[in-house]
Amino acid sequence: MRPAQPIEVGGIPVTPFGSMQEAVSEIIRADGSVVPGSWVAINAEKVVRARRDKDVRAVLEQATLRYPDGMSVVWTMRQKGAITTRIPGVDLWLALMTRAGQLGIPVYLVGARPETLDAVQSRLREDFGVSVVGATDGFGFVESDLVDRIQGSGPKIVTVALGSPRQEEFIQRCRAAHPQAFYMGVGGTYDVFAGNVRRAPTWMRNHGLEWLFRLLRHPTRIWRYRSLVRYLAAHVARRL
Ligand code: UDP
Repeated sequence: MRPAQPIEVGGIPVTPFGSMQEAVSEIIRADGSVVPGSWVAINAEKVVRARRDKDVRAVLEQATLRYPDGMSVVWTMRQKGAITTRIPGVDLWLALMTRAGQLGIPVYLVGARPETLDAVQSRLREDFGVSVVGATDGFGFVESDLVDRIQGSGPKIVTVALGSPRQEEFIQRCRAAHPQAFYMGVGGTYDVFAGNVRRAPTWMRNHGLEWLFRLLRHPTRIWRYRSLVRYLAAHVARRL
């Protein structure tokens, strides 16, 4: 089944998905082949930034698909008649790694601190049976060397944790050199997987309150929530 047509959220086309499984099967087909491309997570902060900054918008538009990572984005899509669930980037990454482990799909990991990346690699190999063909931490690499290394090791999936928009910009350039792979920017996902960062309890996630959990844990990041407030105001006024 093909995914439904994208829905515009603040002028950005975002693809609705009925389930996580549906999203994963758009990337890894039943026969184990990987569909090349790059997916980017869309949340309120990115929508607000893209409205003001055409470089951010261009980065989002150059991805081959945008998925609803934030609950507020899901609300707007539903307001516009879409049937969609939230596809949190962390969960999508984990579901992809699980499939990659089952099917022997080669994976390259980019980003995060060296000790975090070591922990992620070990756990992926030991608990998920993932074939990690290379890993480069996010502090101090030379970009052209890294692109060569990725090309040389032939991954089918490359996941990149460098923070936004740096990870998306890197993906664009790497994809030009090695277009056969699927790319995904994963933000703080490795930190969650390595156990450095706790996720919200299930009941909060199910009620769309993951943002509140993060705010309570890192109150100094409150400035980041200005964009969430702006987004919600536009959502209520149906201006997205
Ligand atoms: N990171 C990195 N190199 C850098 C900056 C960040 O590898 O120069 C990693 C960081 O260790 C973390 C991930 O990028 O694992 C996401 O960082 P952050 O949460 O700050 O970014 P956000 O996703 O919030 O934009």
